Amino acid sequence: MSLLPLHLLGSPVLRQRSDEIGAIDSEVRELIASMFETMDAAKGVGLAANQVGIARRVAVIDADGHRIALVNPRILSAEGRSTAEEGCLSVPDVFADVTRPEQIVVEALDADGKPFRLEVGALAARAIQHEVDHLDGILFLDHLGPVKRKMLLARWKKEHRNDSSYLKEVSPANAASD
Ligand code: ZN
Repeated sequence: MSLLPLHLLGSPVLRQRSDEIGAIDSEVRELIASMFETMDAAKGVGLAANQVGIARRVAVIDADGHRIALVNPRILSAEGRSTAEEGCLSVPDVFADVTRPEQIVVEALDADGKPFRLEVGALAARAIQHEVDHLDGILFLDHLGPVKRKMLLARWKKEHRNDSSYLKEVSPANAASD
């Protein structure tokens, strides 16, 4: 298990459609463990594998008491509409209201390769949709209106114009200052 550096907006892997996982082997289980550790240290409610540079269909979430890994997740149905503020570990310090379906049914494999189906609403539904989007190369910014999106992207580019890479190291959870 290890902390993995986060890929930030601009890193091409975030725009890639991630590949299905064939078999859940020790490498995938190790990835899942490291993703949980990284998500916790970064204080996120979800993390997709391509956010740590690996374009495979794995995500972890910790929202509304659902602390789960989702391998090859598929959203089977989505109902209702809800708007709430979202952020993303790959786009730090940027937040915006995003409208999504409120209730979803998702099907995935767990870390042991066992299929499960889950019906969730509220934050868990939002987190899962956000992560499944990541696996398809979609960012929460893509759900915004063009004016808002353009404004946030312009601000991001300005603030990050001196960055030398798309990677951000995550500090261990116990070293965080807030
Ligand atoms: Zn995200």
